[in-house]
Amino acid sequence: MPIIVHKYGGTSVGNPEKIKNVARRVKKVMEAGNEVVVVVSAMGHTTDELIDLMHKVTSNPDPREYDMLVSTGEQVSAALLAMALQAMGCPAISLTGGQAGVVTEDIYRKARIKEIKLDRIKKELKDGKAVVITGFQGIDSKGDIITIGRGGSDTSAVALAAALKADVCDIYTDVDGVYTTDPRIVPEARKLKYISYEEMLELASLGAQVLHPRSVECASIYNMVIHLRSSSKEDEGTYIMSAARIAKEAGKMEKQEAVRGIALDENIAKIGILHVPDRPGTAARLFGALAKEKVNVDMIVQSIHSQGTLADMAFTVERADLKRAVEVTERIAGELKAEKVVSDSDVSKVSLVGVGMVSQPGTASKMFETLAFEKINIQMITTSEIKISCVVKAEQGKQAVRALHKAFGLDKVA
Ligand code: ADP
Ligand code: ASP
Ligand code: MG
Repeated sequence: MPIIVHKYGGTSVGNPEKIKNVARRVKKVMEAGNEVVVVVSAMGHTTDELIDLMHKVTSNPDPREYDMLVSTGEQVSAALLAMALQAMGCPAISLTGGQAGVVTEDIYRKARIKEIKLDRIKKELKDGKAVVITGFQGIDSKGDIITIGRGGSDTSAVALAAALKADVCDIYTDVDGVYTTDPRIVPEARKLKYISYEEMLELASLGAQVLHPRSVECASIYNMVIHLRSSSKEDEGTYIMSAARIAKEAGKMEKQEAVRGIALDENIAKIGILHVPDRPGTAARLFGALAKEKVNVDMIVQSIHSQGTLADMAFTVERADLKRAVEVTERIAGELKAEKVVSDSDVSKVSLVGVGMVSQPGTASKMFETLAFEKINIQMITTSEIKISCVVKAEQGKQAVRALHKAFGLDKVA
């Protein structure tokens, strides 16, 4: 029997009516003669609400208890969906990540999935049940509940689809596909029919929240097609697949557009360490200390003073890590005899993504001109072969996205 894996995000299971709607869809797919596994996220903003609750109890949560708490949201939606299915006469069972055999690394809050032991899922499918599995969680070697990072239900679904050898992983959400940029920011954004793993991974990592970056990484490893689509319509959405397969399906020999999409990351903060003595080992010391504290550093810029003996360094971190990152940086700045440490959480990062960029010069200069015309100051720049990112003042982030979307004609490309 063909196996179908569906994932429904928070908004799509946001209330009892929506849960019943998902149940109707699942029932239909079962009745068409398929085995069905459904991965669900927590209802609506439940995970955020649980985190707010946590902050009312402590400012320094224990990571194990954090996972115990935030993993509960998915259990609620899984159980309710299984009950809604049963109420419609469709046999169903809900399973936690652990019950479903999702084994993770022994790291709280953002573990990777190590393996999926399929025995239980297979048994339930064989018994003719729809299997509803909590996204975002698994179990570690001690038997503790582990979460896999915010937005991680997408990754749970893709990993399950790969383990079960499904042909495609259907991810149902509140938009009907991947757009050239967040349609909430630019209403003229255009829906993409296909996007390659490479470009989607960049967009997701650079802040396009529509897919968890690791779900794209996992899909590319297993060559699993992700079909991202709307939970309220039946229409086709966007296929995320290998560039080779897209070329075959779309019948295009070469890519044309330099820029395929624009991402905005509003969840960053900037730290500067000023007048650091410019000698070997400085960067190693600072970033080594940050890595030890598990602070992920993103953009790094170093500038040299005219005297040549001092340098300034600036880098970005996730906003949630800012306090910890500043503490570490101040400690190292003291040891290195740097002049001072400054920080700013009032920034966001705007990025252009496209594999065609590499062969089309002028993308960066057009980006800078567009921002200059909008009187948007660029605070930091980084580039790679398929992306250009600029850090700007937070309040100008959306304006930058709108201007760039227009300047690169993303609303028009066929
Ligand atoms: P879910 O709860 O289903 O996982 P998310 O809220 O995580 O849904 O992701 C869907 C949201 O991602 C959309 O509502 C949209 O605003 C946002 N988004 C950001 N960038 C894009 C993009 N390029 N294309 C489509 N949606 C995007
Ligand atoms: N509920 C989790 C979160 O909000 C996981 C997910 O939605 O994918 O981060
Ligand atoms: Mg999501």
